[in-house]
Amino acid sequence: MNVGAPKTAFTNRVIMCGDSGSTRLFKDGLGAAYTMGKAAAKTAVFHGVGKEHFQEDYYPAYRELIVDNRFGKYLFAVTDLIKTSSMMTKGMLAVVNDEQQDAEAPKTLSSILWDMFTGNERYKNIFLRTLDIKVHFALLVKFAKVIAGRHDSTSRRNL
Ligand SMILES: Cc1cc2nc3c(=O)[nH]c(=O)nc-3n(C[C@H](O)[C@H](O)[C@H](O)COP(=O)(O)OP(=O)(O)OC[C@H]3O[C@@H](n4cnc5c(N)ncnc54)[C@H](O)[C@@H]3O)c2cc1C
Repeated sequence: MNVGAPKTAFTNRVIMCGDSGSTRLFKDGLGAAYTMGKAAAKTAVFHGVGKEHFQEDYYPAYRELIVDNRFGKYLFAVTDLIKTSSMMTKGMLAVVNDEQQDAEAPKTLSSILWDMFTGNERYKNIFLRTLDIKVHFALLVKFAKVIAGRHDSTSRRNL
């Protein structure tokens, strides 16, 4: 089981990939092992098996996963925070519900959550979608409605 990428993942004629190298945070360990195995094989076949070959050709792909995991850590911290508050969880689900009810609406938050659950997408790409100001606005409106709904039971149905 991977508990973090080693700083040095290769030397002459030796390379670490899959769970023993850099892998994706919480998701898609098989996909990451495939990606890094392919990068290692490509380096060995087309460039060589020296430390300098791995440094030049394998390391960029290796580091890309490490950097992507930083975005993943941030995203999981935010989703964990939302899960600690029923107000925020309800508000978030209300935004997803709206997106799903309207066939024309962009499914931004729905797709963000889907990709976080499945690991379908790189964390950096998910992060970029979270910057959509419309989603932030929709969430703020729903959070406000949930808070107001605590005092007004009729408004809860119209979240
Ligand atoms: C319970 C569980 C569920 C998972 N579910 C998913 C999932 O749904 N989707 C997903 O993408 N990933 C999943 N993963 C992660 C995924 O299995 C790993 O990320 C992936 O298998 C890593 O591949 P690997 O080749 O690096 O290592 P491994 O698949 O662990 O292969 C290492 C191999 O080396 C062998 N070995 C170890 N020591 C020696 C030795 N001294 N000499 C010779 N051979 C040795 C082992 O027997 C093993 O066959 C799951 C992991 C676990 C533990």
